[in-house]
Amino acid sequence: MKKVLILEDEVSIRSFVVINLKRAGYEAIEAGTGMEALEKLRQNPDIRVAILDIMLPDIDGFEVCRTIRATDSQIGIIMLTAKTQEMDKVTGLMTGADDYVTKPFSPAELTARIDALYRRTGGEINEDSNELKQGPFVLNTRNRTLEKNGQRIKLTQVEYAIMKLFMQNPGRALSREDVLQNVWGRDYCGELKIVDVNIRRLRIKIEDDTANPIYITTVWGFGYKWGA
Ligand code: CA
Repeated sequence: MKKVLILEDEVSIRSFVVINLKRAGYEAIEAGTGMEALEKLRQNPDIRVAILDIMLPDIDGFEVCRTIRATDSQIGIIMLTAKTQEMDKVTGLMTGADDYVTKPFSPAELTARIDALYRRTGGEINEDSNELKQGPFVLNTRNRTLEKNGQRIKLTQVEYAIMKLFMQNPGRALSREDVLQNVWGRDYCGELKIVDVNIRRLRIKIEDDTANPIYITTVWGFGYKWGA
């Protein structure tokens, strides 16, 4: 069964999520504190998506996210943000989350996001050619890894998907909508900002000088271009 971790200290919200996860065909692994969540993840290495609340009694959800990402770049992470504050979303994405859902959310919205992450973390194994080489970069689509000058760069699933899209379209200006549709899927209903935040994070990992990016360049008023 497909396992999803739900970290939420408010029992009513957690139960609501659990019921809806079960209804959508997932097995829910529950945690009420950050430490408990990390322990459950260690016990269940087959969990492929984690939903993390931010305000918790012990360590906050951002810290949990950072801790997970320090060792696991593959798992899908969705943050539950309490307010519609931009800061929460941006901070969450910068700490390594793939997506966020703002409370109050509908069960359909949450399961759609989980389904999308599950599709991305699972698929795309059978590819014809398995290496894309450009400039100092080698993207291996079989192992889903990226190297720059022979050095491995750890990527999240979303960052990997963005890199692949760029490297398949060298020199072509891609609109933020193009990136959103290709990486998050056509049925994704989130905001374009998520594209910018992920690219900001990706630049920190791949650019020599983040202030003057030369690989992922900005096409003002439109989107981005891959120029390695
Ligand atoms: Ca909470």
